[in-house]
Amino acid sequence: MKLTRCKQCGQNVSVHFDNCPHCGGKIQILPATALLKFLAAVILLVVLIGGFVALKNHKTHDNDSTKDTSSSANADGASQ
Ligand SMILES: [Zn+2]
Repeated sequence: MKLTRCKQCGQNVSVHFDNCPHCGGKIQILPATALLKFLAAVILLVVLIGGFVALKNHKTHDNDSTKDTSSSANADGASQ
C-alpha cells in the first residue's frame, strides 16, 4: 500500500484516502508527483549531457587516432 505524508499533521496516510483519517485534512499527492517529474527531468538531462560528452570524447579520440596513424606513416617514410 502506497503511503504519503499528510501536510497538516505529518502522519503517514494511504494515498487512497482523500482526507486524512488522523486530522481530516485533504490529502495532496501532487507534490510527490511534481518531485518525480523533476527527478525524471534531471535524470534525462544527465543522460543527455553524458551522451553528448561521450560522443564528443569519442570524436576527439577518433581525431587523435587519425593523427597517430598519419604521423607514424610519415615516420616510416622518413626512415626508409
Ligand atoms: Zn493529517
